[in-house]
Amino acid sequence: MQESMRKFIAFLLLAAFIFLSPGCKTSVSADLPVAAQADVPVGERESGGDAAVSEVTELVVLHTNDFHGHPVSFFNYPAPNVGGLPAISTLVRQIRETHENVLLLDAGDLNTGRPESNLFKAEADLIGYNYIGYDAMVLGNHEFDNSPAVLKRQMDLAMFPFLSANVTWKDGSYVAEAPYIIKDFKGLKVGIFGLTIKETEFIGNPYYIGQMLFHDEVQTARRMVAELKDKTHLIIALTHLGLYGSNDRGSRRLAAKVAGIDLIVDGHTHTRLNEPVVVNGTPIVQAWHWGLVVGQGTFTIIEGKKSGFRWESIPINLKRREKKNGKNVFRFVGEQIEEDTRLVSLMQPYVEQVDTLLAKVVGIAEAPFFYGKVRRSETAIGNLVADAMLWYSRHLSPDFAIQNGGGIRADIPDGEIAKKVLYEVLPFDNSVMVVELRGTDVAALFDYIATIPNGKGAFAQVSEGVSFTLDYETGKCENVMINGGPIDPNRTYRIVTNSYMAAGGDGYSVFKRAVSKYDTSAFQRDVVIEYIMHLGGRIVPRVGGRIKIKRARGTTLGTAFSGDAASIVPEGSVARQWD
Ligand SMILES: [Zn+2]
Repeated sequence: MQESMRKFIAFLLLAAFIFLSPGCKTSVSADLPVAAQADVPVGERESGGDAAVSEVTELVVLHTNDFHGHPVSFFNYPAPNVGGLPAISTLVRQIRETHENVLLLDAGDLNTGRPESNLFKAEADLIGYNYIGYDAMVLGNHEFDNSPAVLKRQMDLAMFPFLSANVTWKDGSYVAEAPYIIKDFKGLKVGIFGLTIKETEFIGNPYYIGQMLFHDEVQTARRMVAELKDKTHLIIALTHLGLYGSNDRGSRRLAAKVAGIDLIVDGHTHTRLNEPVVVNGTPIVQAWHWGLVVGQGTFTIIEGKKSGFRWESIPINLKRREKKNGKNVFRFVGEQIEEDTRLVSLMQPYVEQVDTLLAKVVGIAEAPFFYGKVRRSETAIGNLVADAMLWYSRHLSPDFAIQNGGGIRADIPDGEIAKKVLYEVLPFDNSVMVVELRGTDVAALFDYIATIPNGKGAFAQVSEGVSFTLDYETGKCENVMINGGPIDPNRTYRIVTNSYMAAGGDGYSVFKRAVSKYDTSAFQRDVVIEYIMHLGGRIVPRVGGRIKIKRARGTTLGTAFSGDAASIVPEGSVARQWD
C-alpha cells in the first residue's frame, strides 16, 4: 500500500477513534513495558486502591473470538455476504447508543485466514478493530503464526492492548503489552486479564516461540485474581483456552479451579453456544468464529456487586437458504445489519489489492499438473497438495497427509504459476488440520478408502511416506505402509488433512474418533503457495509409488477427462519427490 494512503487511513482512523471512543478510562498494569505504554491510547494510568461503590447498574460485554482474518463480508457456503467488520461496527454502535457501559473484547486468534487479512498480516483486521473501538484482545496461539517482529507491529498498530498473563520471554517480561487492564466505568472497576493456551508451546511454530515461556493457566489466573480482587468490582478472564467436554481442560478447568472470576470470555475451539456454560458458578462464553456472531453478555449490578448475568449470541448477517418457487432465496437469521459504509471504504484498498497480489507469480510448473484423474488414481497434483500439507505441519511431526481428490478443482498449467491459480485449484476455504488417530482407526481409515467407488470425490490423494494397493476386486486396501512399516495398532498416528475431512466430510467419519485435532487455520491454497516457494519456485509433476490399483476383473474405470502428463513416469519409480 502506498505510504500516502497508509497515512490517510491512519488519520481517518484516529479521527474515528476519537469520535467513537467510549466514555471510560483504562488503566494498564504496572508491568507494562515502557515502549508499549505509549501505544495504549486511552486515558490515565491509576495506581489502583480501594474500589468505591459505583452507581452503575449494568455492564454489557460484547465479544468475538477466532476471527481468523475475515475483515470484510464473505461467502460462507451456501450464503453470500455474511460477517465482516462493517456490519459488526453497526451492531456495536447500536448497542453503545442504547447502553451506557459497553466493553468490547476479543478472545484471540485474530490472525490467519482470508487473503485480505493474510497478505497484509492482519492490518485490515486491526484497522477495523481500531475503528470499532475494541477495548482489549488476548493473544491466541495463532498470534504466533508470524514472527515476533510482526506481532510487535500488530501491537503497535492496535489502539487497544493485547493481553496475556501467562506468556513471557525467558527473562520474565511479558510478550503481550500487559497481563491485565482495569477499565473504569464511572466508578465501576472491571479487571480484565488475558490467558493463552499453554499448548501453544507445542502447537506454535518453534522458530517464533523458541524464546517464550507458556505458564500454567490456573496458577497464573490465581495470581491475577489475587492482584485484582481488591482493586476491582468485577473480574473478567479473557482467555484463549478452549471449551472441551471435561473440567480438566481449557476454560472449564479454569472455572473449576479458580474462584473469584465473574466471567470467562473464551476462544480457541470455535464453539457455537446458545447459552453460557456454567462451571462452579462461573459463566463461560464463546462466540463461534470468523465474526459470524457477536456474543453479548449483560451484568446487572447492585451497589458495585454482580447480581445477575445474561447472554446471547447475535448473528452477523447469517442467512438460511430456502427454496421458493423452485428458486434459492436467502433469509436472514436474526435481523439484517447494514454495513457501516465508512468502514467499508477503509477496507476497500485491501480488497482491491488482493486481486493485484493474486496475479503475482509464485513459481514455474515445468509441465502441467492435471487434475482430471484426482478421483481415480494417484496424481501429481494430489501429491503436490498432500506433500505441501505435510511440509507445512512438519513441526508437529505428522506421519502422513491425506486429501480428498474432489477438493482439487483445476489444473496447474505449465509455465508461470500465479497465486490465483492455486485459488482455483483449491477453491474451498478449508484449512490444514492435524488429526491424531489410534492405529486401529488408521487401519479403519484405509479400509474405508478401499470402499470408495473409483471416480468419487472422496478418493484419497496421499503424501510421501504412505503407499498402499487398492484392490477393487476384494474391496480391500492392501500392503499399507507408513514410513516404511505396516500400521501399528498400538500407537497413535498424526495425520494431516483438511478441515472438511477432519469433520467427517466425504465419508471420512473415522476422523470423528480422533484422539485430538489441531487446526492450523492456514488455508490449503496458501500452504501450497508457501510450499512452492519453499521448493525454489520450480515444480515438476511426478507420480508413482504411493497408490497402486488392482482393478476388478472385467471392469473398466472409464477415462479421465484430461490426461495426466505425470503418468508417463512408471509406477513405483519415484518415492520422494519434492525435496
Ligand atoms: Zn486457537
